[in-house]
Amino acid sequence: MDRKYRAEPYRIKMVEAIKETTRHDREEALKRVGYNVFAIKSDDVYIDLLTDSGTGAMSDAQWGAMMIADEAYAGSRSYYRLKAVVEEITGYHYLLPVHQGRGAEQVLMGSLIHREGMVFISNSHFDTTRAHVELAGARALDCVIEAAFDTQTPHPFKGNFDVAKLERLILEKGPENIAGIIYTITNNSMGGQPVSLENLTAVSKIAKKYGILRIMDGARYAENAFFIQQREAAYCDWTIQDIARAQFDLADVFMMSAKKDGLVNMGGLLVIKDNQSLFEACQVRVVPMEGFPTYGGMSGRAMDALAVGLKEALEVPYLTHRTDQIRYLADRLQASGIPVQTPPGGHAVFIDAKAWLPHIPQTAFPAQSVVIELYLEAGIRAVEIGSFLLGNDPDTHEPLISPTEFVRLTIPRRTYTYRHLDDVADALSAIHARKETLKGLKVVKEPAVLRHFTAQLAYLD
Ligand SMILES: *Cc1c(COP(=O)(O)O)cnc(C)c1O
Repeated sequence: MDRKYRAEPYRIKMVEAIKETTRHDREEALKRVGYNVFAIKSDDVYIDLLTDSGTGAMSDAQWGAMMIADEAYAGSRSYYRLKAVVEEITGYHYLLPVHQGRGAEQVLMGSLIHREGMVFISNSHFDTTRAHVELAGARALDCVIEAAFDTQTPHPFKGNFDVAKLERLILEKGPENIAGIIYTITNNSMGGQPVSLENLTAVSKIAKKYGILRIMDGARYAENAFFIQQREAAYCDWTIQDIARAQFDLADVFMMSAKKDGLVNMGGLLVIKDNQSLFEACQVRVVPMEGFPTYGGMSGRAMDALAVGLKEALEVPYLTHRTDQIRYLADRLQASGIPVQTPPGGHAVFIDAKAWLPHIPQTAFPAQSVVIELYLEAGIRAVEIGSFLLGNDPDTHEPLISPTEFVRLTIPRRTYTYRHLDDVADALSAIHARKETLKGLKVVKEPAVLRHFTAQLAYLD
């Protein structure tokens, strides 16, 4: 049977009610929170596409594994079960569990930055990664390929590094000032876009040439491996496990938000291949910041659920259905004339709001305007990934203009059905019919870092 969009490879064993609100309720809620959907109660959301971070459903096997967890503070059986699975998948030797991805960032960045003028280079830094680079006193430079910015022209690996630019940046800043090269796979900010093994190999070679540490920000390493199998001819008959291992072979350190391809609701990993002195430096920081090194902020239950989730996330039927759902929603939006990042990536559909709403300047946050309209229309919560998220320059404090203005419709894992995605597509198609009426916004109150989580906005007159 040839199916364009694969049905859910699971049966539903437990359900959670969601409720619909009235348009009046939603108008009031938005006013209360200063037009920032992060401050809306999830009870007031019908379909929640804010993030795929820790919002997925665990399997019966994961819930079962939690029953045999060992909650010992030090050296628990749960820790050793997790360690065995991580070692099997990555081939890396040193494991530090952390409370979530940013815990790994805080521990690692602080271990690598000892002086002024250090720089990290990534295809695209994720927002919390950039924040931890800057908090540690370094600077974050991105060098993704130009094709990533052209949302309407397909390219199989829009997450790739621009290898020539990478080498130029290294020489410009001086190799001794580069604290690390960070492979963000998949490239979240550019649309959950994959990075090819060919590109990772080239980047790894440059890192080795200049003696620079190779760090994988691999929250979605399994989705990346799946895209390599689908789109990179040389690997079409490799298993996902073998492709994943090939990815790990090209890095020295693996940071992971386990809330993504770990299929758990909370947790993270900092894994070091074989660099004992780096491991010891990180271990020293883990204790005061995250917890004793054999739990680092995770309960035994969470570690056991993660040990199972890491393996489930590498299964082909799961990955096929997951990416089919994203493609289904992207296809429906494109059929309505809404521009999306093409081809769609692994965890979300990214609407190109700059192309869709040319009447709203970037300084007035066109993507945030769509996010608010979508909530008003149907109680669906999406998120802005553009100039509102990017915030202000850490040196000049001037507002930054993002090269892209995306509305991210993030699909939680194993949580919503295709029928829910139809409601999302229908709501956006209704907005498409009156898109000229959408208005821009301004920031009226903002914190110093990561403003998008707590800032307040108002409509421009
Ligand atoms: C989510 C994410 C992080 C941060 O992880 P948290 O678990 O949210 O702290 C880092 N990098 C990438 C690419 C992510 O998607």
